[in-house]
Amino acid sequence: MLGTIEELQERFRNRELTSKGLTEAFLRRIDEVDDSVGAFITVSKDEALEASDTADNRMNGDGEITSLTGIPVSVKDIFCTKGTPTTCGSRILEGFVPPYDATVVRKLKEAGAVIIGKNNMDEFAMGSSTENSAYKKTKNPWDLTRVPGGSSGGSAASVAAGECIASIGTDTGGSIRQPAACCGVVGLKPTYGRVSRYGMIAFASSLDQAGPITRNVRDAAELLGVIAGFDPRESTSIDLPVPDYTAGLGGGVKGLRVGIPGEYFIDGIDGEVSTAVQNAINFFKDQGAEIVDISLPHTEYAVSVYYIVATAEASSNLARYDGVRYGQRVDDGDGLLEMYKKTRDRGFGAEVKRRIMLGTYALSSGYYDAYYKKASQVRALIKRDFDLAFKECDIMLTPTAPTAAFKIGEKTSDPLTMYLSDIFTISSSLAGIPAISLPCGFTTEGLPIGLQIIGNTLDEATVLRAAHAYETGTEWHQKRAKL
Ligand code: GLN
Repeated sequence: MLGTIEELQERFRNRELTSKGLTEAFLRRIDEVDDSVGAFITVSKDEALEASDTADNRMNGDGEITSLTGIPVSVKDIFCTKGTPTTCGSRILEGFVPPYDATVVRKLKEAGAVIIGKNNMDEFAMGSSTENSAYKKTKNPWDLTRVPGGSSGGSAASVAAGECIASIGTDTGGSIRQPAACCGVVGLKPTYGRVSRYGMIAFASSLDQAGPITRNVRDAAELLGVIAGFDPRESTSIDLPVPDYTAGLGGGVKGLRVGIPGEYFIDGIDGEVSTAVQNAINFFKDQGAEIVDISLPHTEYAVSVYYIVATAEASSNLARYDGVRYGQRVDDGDGLLEMYKKTRDRGFGAEVKRRIMLGTYALSSGYYDAYYKKASQVRALIKRDFDLAFKECDIMLTPTAPTAAFKIGEKTSDPLTMYLSDIFTISSSLAGIPAISLPCGFTTEGLPIGLQIIGNTLDEATVLRAAHAYETGTEWHQKRAKL
């Protein structure tokens, strides 16, 4: 019943709705359902109401109106928000109140969006189920006994539960796309560098990227247009103009070359997931796309490469949490070294410690060549696979995840099984290329299934166009979780 952001703007213009009214409705919804869903760490009620007033004034002629003016959105608790606590899902940042806004947050605010709260997440974005949060477990709105995916599980669940219009998540190896798939919503990981990471807490700097989680593809295009772009404060942000991502959405897929990577259709994928993805491929064929079999031969190394590169970078990034500069400090008065040790011992959870140890080992002298250097070399081969394949196709279709949402607790005792949740999303992260997940069906148990569309560097427009064509021709995205 809420439609797209574009339709909401229409209702604002026709005076059928105000931003204040909409914001209040979402705050009520959060009150009603978030005790059971647990999508938020912080709800910014007062700030949101104030921002909605400002937005309404803007719409009454007091300032410029953008596509996001007055629209209630949430952001993952990995983004610094001036004056609002930012935890990154970790006890070590408990009590940290940033003195500035992340660029993504600043851009949302400047566009007039209403930031309604900060979403739960796996601690430092390490995980695939949001069970690694130090604060709470987020439940999947489609089945409260299941995980919402992760690490942006709070973001995806907040959208699926109707607690906001959209959310901004982050993706290092799948953390936007996999929770979007688990929660039956749309999640777009843009090209590495397309969106500034200034003020976004770092996990693995050569992989981290921010992107939108929305109810439909048009909204994702709308949000990407607002958050993307060069930022002089962020050295990896790409200095190229941001296209109008909504402009080409209606272009269809006739003549589009759709690559199907054989390596992604393997044993171990759930039968219902594979059928749903196969049906999606047939849809593209029926719409006049050309289906091409392609190969990404180094796919089998992706998970191993990722868990060396990501943990190595994390071990270095997380060195800054020493009890001196941010958040928690545990000081029993027995000296500086003891203070560091106790702060980090009590501040970090088990998964974060596991990754710091793995990463430190991979970077240590004597092992650097065998692990980190080797992994970087294989990463280059994975990237080359994509470069070659994109000579034969314009986009690729794959499942987003091998299964639908799993049960809470099902994989917590076995990190390796948990790591395999991202088997289909990690390669495109290593290659830095854009990819989207969107709903493509439901299991017999009523759980959403995600289709992944991967595109070439900076070609978000084609990814979005293909996704929009699929969404327009199907009805999966219209189903809502009953809470
Ligand atoms: N699940 C993967 C991990 O645990 C990816 C996380 C992410 O993309 N932030 O590292």
